[in-house]
Amino acid sequence: MTKLIIGNWKMNGSQALVASMVESIKSVINQTSSSVQVVVCPPFPYLGVLKQAIGDANIGIGAQNVHTQLSGAFTGEISVGILKDWQTTHCLVGHSERRSLFGETDQLVQEKTKLLLDHEIKPVICVGETLEQRESGQHESTVTQQLKVALKGLSSSELERSVVAYEPVWAIGTGKTASEEQANQMHIVIRKTLEEHATPDLAKSVMILYGGSVNAKNAGSLLQQSDIDGCLVGGASLKPEDFSQIIQAGL
Ligand code: PEP
Repeated sequence: MTKLIIGNWKMNGSQALVASMVESIKSVINQTSSSVQVVVCPPFPYLGVLKQAIGDANIGIGAQNVHTQLSGAFTGEISVGILKDWQTTHCLVGHSERRSLFGETDQLVQEKTKLLLDHEIKPVICVGETLEQRESGQHESTVTQQLKVALKGLSSSELERSVVAYEPVWAIGTGKTASEEQANQMHIVIRKTLEEHATPDLAKSVMILYGGSVNAKNAGSLLQQSDIDGCLVGGASLKPEDFSQIIQAGL
């Protein structure tokens, strides 16, 4: 099955990095029959430069956020129509930094998910527990609850076009990766939750990514797990060589 590798640049990068990153990704995906799909999520001002650098290569254009309103007086925000205008293919929703720093609730994540699907952009629904929740044994119920709210009201075909990213909060940007077993176990729980919304076959076809300190060294073993369909990469997606090695790990 094709793997999906998404790079989340957060509030980092430059035009020069867009150019060198796209060159580096192209040289990796050109060498193979491409069993990996790659998406780059730069800050908004770089979406146009990214689109231009990609040309007709098979690399997706990702956004890190979207506003729920279609247009209007929302200074500093980006609408789904603007994302569509830049041929954005994917958009993160509910990243833990949006939840913890900008107060995004499960309900808002659900609204954004539906809005993106209505405009044919794939939502990458981020879920994950804090260290406290894991240590008190609430990690599975926390993630299941986040996901259930996000998926509320989605049809089977909408679910099929959605991507889920499991990102334990304690592993994001900390250098602490979940073990392959911890990650895969949570992916199995997520898959079971998806089955409550769709047939097992459809649930199987939804991509579930792992995110949290993925790097060139640990990507291979994570991607070999039965229910890990790809990775959402933060820090290492800013380094062309490391990101290329992560892509190669999925080939
Ligand atoms: C992320 O930002 O989604 C992420 C997983 O970051 P990092 O890889 O740096 O932990």
